[in-house]
Amino acid sequence: MSQDKIEKYLAYDGRISIICANTTNLVENLRKIHNLSPVVTAALGRFVTVTTLMAAEMKNSEDVITVQLKANGPIGQMIAVANNKAQVKAYAQNVSVDIPLNEDGKLDVSGAVGIEGFINVVKDIGLKEPYVGIVPLVSGEIGDDFASYFVKSEGQQAAVALGVLVNKEGVKQAGGYIIKPMPDAKEEDIQNLEQSIFKAGAISKMLDNNLTLEEIAKKVTGDEKIKLINKETTPEYKCDCTRERFERGLISLGKEELEKLIKTEEKTETTCQFCNKKYEFTKQEMEQIIKNMKN
Ligand SMILES: [Zn+2]
Repeated sequence: MSQDKIEKYLAYDGRISIICANTTNLVENLRKIHNLSPVVTAALGRFVTVTTLMAAEMKNSEDVITVQLKANGPIGQMIAVANNKAQVKAYAQNVSVDIPLNEDGKLDVSGAVGIEGFINVVKDIGLKEPYVGIVPLVSGEIGDDFASYFVKSEGQQAAVALGVLVNKEGVKQAGGYIIKPMPDAKEEDIQNLEQSIFKAGAISKMLDNNLTLEEIAKKVTGDEKIKLINKETTPEYKCDCTRERFERGLISLGKEELEKLIKTEEKTETTCQFCNKKYEFTKQEMEQIIKNMKN
């Protein structure tokens, strides 16, 4: 299986930036952890890939991005959280969606995601208030939806391509790229870009043809003299849940609710939505939590 990586390049003498990722192992892990159906693997895989790319563009190691996509399709809600070290976690509300292939004979991502809905991006970059951007979906195919997010919410033109190839064994290829013109980009640059993006074809196909990220970046920009500008980054699926966090979650339910749980349950079990890890609280532990709340 190919090696996961994120690489960032400048093209056109610094007038165009491109960040690209191979997320094959990451998306395969995601599929296994949540036992995703093929179409949910494709949808959540694209969603996680774009979130990871956006996280890698943030500046500080403590920066965290949370992206929510909620629409009227059978998947329901998807959430992904990533930091700038490219550690990411995600889940989908309904993991077993099974719908017919679309008219091109491909996994019907927009059919599963839905077309009416929104993307909600929260970037916690160490300021008092996090940056929040909400935009409506345009197609439910995710790539176009995020391109529209960049224009509408961040005032930035962008081309976004995301792809996940799924076969019987699981994820065969997954990856994506985001191209953004810098402020000094020329009209001519944009036109050249549009042509080379079109000629390059689908990202999943390029990965499947064993192209490296550098080769992909050259192909989609049409520039042979691109410059690598980031350190080696490997995206990985990583959940940071702790018992303490779930204890705080229980406390937030309030005393009354906790007392009800003690009466009806021998032990209270909580499950992390991101990694399915279970945390158990016995009756005595629950009583202790309530006791501590009084003080
Ligand atoms: Zn977890």
